[in-house]
Amino acid sequence: MAEIDWARVGAESVELFKSLLRIETVNPPGNERPAAELIAGVLAREGIEHQLVERAPTRTSVVARLRGNGKRAPLLLNGHLDVVPVDRDKWRHDPFGAEEHDGCIWGRGAIDMKNMVAMGLMTLVLLKRTGAALERDVIFAGVADEEAGSREGALYLVEEHPELVRAEYVLNEVGGHTLHMGKRRFYPVQVAEKGICWFELIAEGSPGHGSMPRPDNAVVRLARAIERLGATRLPQKNLPVVEGFLRTLAAGAPFPQNKVMPLLLEPRLAGHLLGLMEKKDVDRAIGINAMLRNTTSPTVLSAGKKVNVIPSEARAQIDGRVLPGTAIADFLREVQAVVGDDVRINVLDRHDGTTFGTDTPLYEKIRSTLARHDPDGVAVPYMIPGFTDSFAYARLGATCYGFSPVKLGPELNFTGMYHGHDERIPKDGYLWGQRVLFELVRDFTAAT
Ligand SMILES: [Zn+2]
Repeated sequence: MAEIDWARVGAESVELFKSLLRIETVNPPGNERPAAELIAGVLAREGIEHQLVERAPTRTSVVARLRGNGKRAPLLLNGHLDVVPVDRDKWRHDPFGAEEHDGCIWGRGAIDMKNMVAMGLMTLVLLKRTGAALERDVIFAGVADEEAGSREGALYLVEEHPELVRAEYVLNEVGGHTLHMGKRRFYPVQVAEKGICWFELIAEGSPGHGSMPRPDNAVVRLARAIERLGATRLPQKNLPVVEGFLRTLAAGAPFPQNKVMPLLLEPRLAGHLLGLMEKKDVDRAIGINAMLRNTTSPTVLSAGKKVNVIPSEARAQIDGRVLPGTAIADFLREVQAVVGDDVRINVLDRHDGTTFGTDTPLYEKIRSTLARHDPDGVAVPYMIPGFTDSFAYARLGATCYGFSPVKLGPELNFTGMYHGHDERIPKDGYLWGQRVLFELVRDFTAAT
């Protein structure tokens, strides 16, 4: 295999990444086609088999494939092309300028997740240029619509073009970043995602004139139910992946976190501890809380049309998140027990969570590749409270890991930049990630 000139390749990868950042793919509306076409242009130039796919005009995904000898099933590198909206006034630099400041490349999508799109694409390009002999196909998917639920992107591919994306393994987002804990460095690798159960709470009551308050006012009933939901933590369930994550982090943490974190696994203490933690470090507290239980967040309210008319119905939409392994029916029973019987539940949308083991050759290769590139860093499996395109690929039987490697200094908080203002990525950390991803894919897919 030809030697790789990393100075030159790194610069090329950064330019590609910046070009993607400069294309506005804010979802809604998405408009991923220009990004997909830019990628298709690169693939065409390199002579890599690919196609553009879309269910609706402008909502384009691009899928490419490098063929191996077929001895093993494919590895899929996934990246979504869309990004979440920006609050332009709150940014220090143009969110679509891909400018370099303070050693970082700034822009919406810098870590979520045009970095992985560019790194994955460049990985295919490098495998092709070096003439690597592969024992499995390497698929690249740059997909639309992840930020709005994947229906125009990964789900569409899985449902309508499964032959393009069927793979044994998927590498995707929300993992592989540096997490600093005291003096230690960890690299969370996402192996599990919670599922969703989005539902409505519906309260009913007698309609009437607002001048004569009624005891069964639907709005008041709904408000009581929401208040109960907001004040209650649903039952705690310690999943093995979560327990392992907290114990691993605790082992590297300074006092007193090293003592407190394991206590969060004690259901009798956890509620109280989380309450205290919310006052000191609310982001950490809510992140841990979401790993320990099913959760509900009321988000949308509707009732009544006129100030002097008591409506007969009031509704709240609730974003429910369900631990992998918990049946939706059991989650709904937990909710009903809290809100009481005088409100109804109507499920709007749902999908199950996913969880994958770490006893796979790919996980082992992730661990060893990280160890080579950051000997003091420790890979640690974890679960995210949200979901990614992985839930779609899991339906085709794939084992999916969130691993978009990026080295971050202690001053950069990964979760804070996700969907936040001033999203950016250290240029060095990006280049490090490009090399880690390439070597991981090369070593994992090489024909022996
Ligand atoms: Zn994302």
